[in-house]
Amino acid sequence: MAEKERKYIDCRDYPNNKTCTVAISADSDEELLEAAVQHVVSVHGYSDTPEFREELRKSFKKGSPPAGMTRAA
Ligand SMILES: [Zn+2]
Repeated sequence: MAEKERKYIDCRDYPNNKTCTVAISADSDEELLEAAVQHVVSVHGYSDTPEFREELRKSFKKGSPPAGMTRAA
C-alpha cells in the first residue's frame, strides 16, 4: 500500500450542518469514508448513495482535524 496519510472530514465545512462540529479522521480513505457515511446518514439524515460517497470523498482533507475537535466515529 502507498504511504499512509491521515485524512479527515469536518462537518463544519458544510453550511447546512451549523450545529454539528464533529470531525472524523482516519488513516485510510476507505475507513474515513465508512465512518463519514455512517455519521452523516445517522446524524444528518442523508441517503447513502454512490454519488454522495463520491462527494464525501472529495471533501477529505489531509492532516488531522484541529485539536479538540475529534470524536470517535
Ligand atoms: Zn456532522
